[in-house]
Amino acid sequence: MVDSHVRGVQVKENIKFTPSLSEQRHKFVLDFVRKHKPQKVADLGCANCKLLWRLKYHESIEVLAGLDIDENILTRNIYRLHTGAGDYLDPRERPLTITLYHGSVVEKDPCLLGFDLITCIELIEHLEAKELSQFPEVIFGFFSPTTVIISTPNSEFNPLFSGKTLFRHPDHKFEWDRTQFQSWALDAARHYGYSVEFTGLGEPPPGAEAVGFCTQIGVFVKTIPNTVKSLHDEKTIECAHTTVGTVIYPSLKEEKYLRKAVSNEVFSQILKMKRVLLESLKMKNDNDNSDELEFVKPKCDESKNDPTEEIPKPFCIENVFYVPLERLFSFPKIKHLCGDLETLKMLIANEVMLSSDGSSVMINTVDEEDCDLSDNDGDDLRFV
Ligand code: SAH
Repeated sequence: MVDSHVRGVQVKENIKFTPSLSEQRHKFVLDFVRKHKPQKVADLGCANCKLLWRLKYHESIEVLAGLDIDENILTRNIYRLHTGAGDYLDPRERPLTITLYHGSVVEKDPCLLGFDLITCIELIEHLEAKELSQFPEVIFGFFSPTTVIISTPNSEFNPLFSGKTLFRHPDHKFEWDRTQFQSWALDAARHYGYSVEFTGLGEPPPGAEAVGFCTQIGVFVKTIPNTVKSLHDEKTIECAHTTVGTVIYPSLKEEKYLRKAVSNEVFSQILKMKRVLLESLKMKNDNDNSDELEFVKPKCDESKNDPTEEIPKPFCIENVFYVPLERLFSFPKIKHLCGDLETLKMLIANEVMLSSDGSSVMINTVDEEDCDLSDNDGDDLRFV
């Protein structure tokens, strides 16, 4: 291990970051997404698709795109973005389509128009001088997303690393100090109507603070909105990128998944209510030898000021447990999924048995529980 000297600071250890700098950069993007909730996000120079994989868990995102010039790395890693059983069991609220494109960031392609966020994480330092000169016009001028995050190494930090290579990676074409990056970024921002703020990740060790962060980051925000005309004109440009793969996620926007989610929630709530009812009846039967069955108020309805008091209660007639749709609709998750009572009825109509007037779900209590209410003699038992 070679000791390094930076402005009088001797660094004996090879610098390591925990979590790794790569993870910190991804976390930076994820925090940004959490805060600004973009719907359309593209990662340029997406390499092994790890950032895309992390982004796919964000509910706000409906369109994710990845682009890389290395087609092999995309085909090897697209599996990370495939759907799994969990995606079907618990579908997302919003749709999500992920597409991987093979091509260069400096090619104008309409598939990357209209994005809320474009990330270029450790990408620009891989560009040849000619590509770098085309980059601002394509990214800011043509794609023109609402926000852009660009990260790149800060060369001032390099002497803190042990070993003597010119750049941090053999494929890097250049590495900039903060002044170089900031003046390039400010020029681009000014020219294409963006503001830019600078930050970074990877703190230098004590005593070497003057070198700045290991990774420098520019966050660009568009200050001049696109005109409809400019977007229309740009759409006439031919596609330059080829599609490596597209993955469409199941979502509750599709009726078949919404129907399943609502039915599952309805069954789960009905079973809970039925259990409370049957337990209370059992208790009553055990404690009371009289033939008359009185319904004991279940725990969930104990509060005197219960706002659900007005909502029709479940009840039993002989062996049939009736749950009014209005009661089901009062559960926040069901209300959220359905929006209105008619939709709830429409969504569960084929999954449950409805009473003749269509106002309640009917469940036979004998089949599923070992508690039989047949000794109820037809009493109408209600949650009162
Ligand atoms: N963004 C990734 C790693 C970037 S490494 C991460 O956060 O981990 C740089 C990537 O940019 C490589 O995968 C490389 O193939 C890609 N790249 C280099 N030049 C490119 C170009 N002109 N257009 C698109 N991708 C490019």
